[in-house]
Parts: sequence; C-alpha cells; structure tokens
Amino acid sequence: MSGPNAPVSADQAGAVLTIDLAAITENWRLLSKKLKPGCDCGAVVKADAYGLGAANVAAALAGAGCKTFYVAHLSEGIDLRKVLGRGPRIIVMHGVNPGLESEVFKHGLIPVLSTPDQILAWRTFATDADVLQETLIQVDTGMNRLGLSEAEFSNHLNDPDGFQGLTPLALMSHLACAGTPEHPLNTMQLEKFTGALSAFRSKFPDAKGTLSNSSGIFLGEAWHFDYARPGASLYGLNPQPATKNPMLPVVRLQAKILQIRRVDSTQTVGYGATFQAADGMKLATVSIGYADGFLRSLSNAGQAQLDGIPIRIAGIISMDLLTFDISNVPDSSARPGAMIDILAQHPTADDLASDAGTIGYEVLTSLGHRYARRYLPASVPGLGS
Ligand SMILES: *Cc1c(COP(=O)(O)O)cnc(C)c1O
Repeated sequence: MSGPNAPVSADQAGAVLTIDLAAITENWRLLSKKLKPGCDCGAVVKADAYGLGAANVAAALAGAGCKTFYVAHLSEGIDLRKVLGRGPRIIVMHGVNPGLESEVFKHGLIPVLSTPDQILAWRTFATDADVLQETLIQVDTGMNRLGLSEAEFSNHLNDPDGFQGLTPLALMSHLACAGTPEHPLNTMQLEKFTGALSAFRSKFPDAKGTLSNSSGIFLGEAWHFDYARPGASLYGLNPQPATKNPMLPVVRLQAKILQIRRVDSTQTVGYGATFQAADGMKLATVSIGYADGFLRSLSNAGQAQLDGIPIRIAGIISMDLLTFDISNVPDSSARPGAMIDILAQHPTADDLASDAGTIGYEVLTSLGHRYARRYLPASVPGLGS
C-alpha cells in the first residue's frame, strides 16, 4: 500500500511521527471549559486534521463527546461521514458547487452557503426535493474572503424570497486578526456580526451564531456565540502567540541519524556549499527532507534537539536529507540510529515555523507521508504529561 497515511514500520522509516490523541481530546476539553455555558465546542478537521490524520483524530474527538465537525471540502465531508457514522454534525465550510446539492444531502452534510448563487441553488434544490436539511449562511465582516457582503446580506433579508426555503442552523463569519487581541478589527467584526445576527433572527428566531476559530475563543465570551470552530489549538498550536501556550503538545517527530562524520579540515556542507564547517566539527545527517514537508526555508536556520541538547541545521535542506551540526553533543548520544527530535515540546511546530518565517499551521499541514505514524490512544495519558 502506498500513498497518504500508508503504514510504514518504524524500522523502515527514516522518521517517526507520534500523534497523541489523548492530548488532542484534552485540548478539546480545555477549550470546551473556556467557552461560555451552552456554546458548542466543535473541531475543525479540514486538511486531514491539519496533517495529523482526520479519521483517527475525529474518531477520538467523537469519543470524547465532540458533536460538531468542520471540513473545508465536500470530499472531506464524505470521507468523514464514513468514519463518524450518522450521529455527529459535519459542516462543509466551502459549501456546495452547483449541481452537487444532492450529494451533500445524501451524506447528511451541512453546507455553508457563502454566495448568492450557492443560496439560490440550494433553495431550488431544497424546494424541489422538499428537503429540510440545515445550512449555515456565511456573511463577511471584514475578512473579504468568503461570505455575503453586507449589501448582499441585507438584500437577501429584505427580499421575501431571499432566504425562502432554507432551514438555517446558524449564521457564520470568520475573524481576520483573532491571534492579535488588541487589533481593532476584532471589535469591528464582532459589532458587524452581532448586528447581522440580530437582523437574521428577525426572520429565523432560532438561528445560532458562529464566529470564533481557536484564537477567537481567547478573545472573550462576547465572541463565542453558539458554536465555536477551533482547529489549530486542538493540535497544540498556540492560539495567542504573544502569551504562553495553554494547549498540550500533540505532535512528536523524531528522525533517525543515518550517518555521523567529523570534518578534519575546513569544509562546506550540502548543495550550494552554503555552510562552512570548521575543522573538528561533528555532523549528523538524518532521513528527512523537503519531500517530507520539512520546509526548505529552514536551511541554515532550523533547530532541533538530540538528547535534550539544542542543535542547528547545517546547510541547505535536500529532498530526502538534512544535516545538523552536533559538535556540542557528547559521542555517547551522537551515534547512527539515534533519534533527533525534530518536533516535540522543544522545538514546537510554532518554534520551527518562526525559524522558517511561517506559521505552525503550515508546518503541520506540510507533514509528509513517508513517516511511520504512531497514534497514542485517547484513553492513555501521553506526551504532555
Ligand atoms: C480553518 C478555519 C477554522 C479553524 O481555525 P483555527 O485557527 O485553526 O482554529 C475556523 N473557521 C474557518 C472558517 C476556517 O477556515
């Protein structure tokens, strides 16, 4: 078997990726407690649960009591329905491409409708097929990515046919700057969303509201409304980067040392000869490269740990290999077959991202498919304890 998430034995693999499902469910409980009473804590499992494996992650979260799951694509929703069975809500955030309404309905998925065309197509489908399947309506409040504009939204409200035939579960919007609490857009978006929701409720009194991703949850109860949509924080990323991370670490990536060499004169390392190794420097090469999603921008910049000792990347990252300067590590720890911590409690995905000039989200969603993947079960305390 090959392809995404193919099982690879730890002996054969160059690196082992350990995903702590107990830490994910614990993070979900932590977020649930942080939410105001009555607010539903869902789980965003789009992009294969941020690279960690949507089937395993969603099953663990459903076991912990999570009832609402969010994906981006219809295909992700269809796959997830097979894993979760009929019970939990699955919300497809990109909505429905015209013509696929019956697919969405058949799998019991809840589409987010973001454009007048999507709304019209769903209305027509729901009326023709006499279907009461719920939907979410998305309004834009300042992200300018998806959702009805303010004008489109009020046109729909004022037109008696605008939302005719729909069964809206909730009104949705998305925050642009929630990771920066002092950013003025947070309050502006909150005000716009509050206004839109109360107008919407004049037509649909039972409609709920959903505004917050992970970071939005930490802005305060005013941003919570009825459904929260955390993703990144479940997977251990820091929802408020300026303060200490309250989430448990979830991911550990360990790479095997293939070869160690001691340089016996001044030499260079890797493609392009960009790293100067001084006489006596000790180098370790491991079996991870950019084909495994290890960002090439970490060349000469990334850090890792060997036996708890910080080490730095030396030279340009190759497709399948990268080299560390391990001169500061005693020979007792530095031997072929030893495992280097690429991602762990130190460095975290957020640490690596900051060295690479990106965000932890990209580090996780880039995680490759040649790693041996191990899942620590949800019922057993794991890495974080
Ligand atoms: C990805 C996404 C989320 C989850 O965001 P996190 O920052 O990962 O918590 C929530 N809502 C929407 C619309 C998204 O696209």
